[in-house]
Parts: sequence; structure tokens; C-alpha cells
Amino acid sequence: MGKRYYCDFCDRSFADTGVNRKNHFKGVQHQRLKKQHYDAFRDPASILAEESTKIPCTRFQTGSCDFGDSCKFSHMTPERLHHLQELVSKQRQKSEKDINFNKDLKEPTLEEWLEKRSKRLRKTENNEEETEELHYELPPFLNISNLPPSLLPPSAEELRNTAKCEWG
Ligand SMILES: [Zn+2]
Ligand SMILES: [Zn+2]
Repeated sequence: MGKRYYCDFCDRSFADTGVNRKNHFKGVQHQRLKKQHYDAFRDPASILAEESTKIPCTRFQTGSCDFGDSCKFSHMTPERLHHLQELVSKQRQKSEKDINFNKDLKEPTLEEWLEKRSKRLRKTENNEEETEELHYELPPFLNISNLPPSLLPPSAEELRNTAKCEWG
């Protein structure tokens, strides 16, 4: 069996010769599927812009056009056009929202950052006593009854006594 060419867009393969490839890439079916594939990644605004520069396809409007999506004239139906326009305006609203959202997320000024920092430091100072009240529980699903002692988790009592150890 010779080499075969597999076309991703069409999900089919054929004997890999120059002629076969050329014919396949020229094929209406292939061009349609390829366009469909890439249109899925394009934003509606640019599709709309492109379509609005095209002359409506009379063949398509009065019946059927063999060129399909690869036709150089526009195959937009009023419904599809409407749908695209809706998508575009929705997108525009969304990007405006994103801009506003990013405004809220803007970097803090140095003063704001310093204030936050001192608050944080004050908090940790005040919390130091509270860490003495170390308390924890093992999750109930953890069955430790048959673990060797060295693998048993330390008790809260033991942790409290070692918590102050300093590293380094
Ligand atoms: Zn193909
Ligand atoms: Zn056409």
C-alpha cells in the first residue's frame, strides 16, 4: 500500500500523489469544510465585515449554488445575517464589560499597597497568640487505625509544642 494523504478538514484519506492532492484541495467539498473549520475560530465581526463586501449570490438566492461556502458571492441568508449581527453586538457588550472589569483590577498605588501591607502585618502580630489554639481534625474517611506509629499524624498536643520551632 502506498502512502496515503489524510485530510483533516474532510476526515478522509486518499493515495498521496500530487495530482490527487491538487484535485482534492480544489474540490468544493474540501474548500467548504476548510472554510467552515476556520470560520469557527473567526470572530463574527470579521465574518460580517467580509460578507458585507460581497455581492449577494443570485444563484444561491434563486435556488442553489454549487460553490457553497467557497462562492465568491455572499450566501448570507437574512436569518444568518441577523444571527451574526446579534453575536457581534453581544461581543461588543462583553468586551466593554471586560474593560470595565479590568479597570477595577488595576494595580494598587504604592500608598494602597503599603496600607494593605501594614494591615496584614498588624493582623499577623495579633494572631500570634491565636496560633496557640492549634486545632485540627483528620478527615473522617481517613482510617489510620492500622498505621505503624511512625506514620501516625502528630496529635494537636504534639503540634502545639513544636509549632514554635524556627527553621534555618
Ligand atoms: Zn479535504
Ligand atoms: Zn454562490
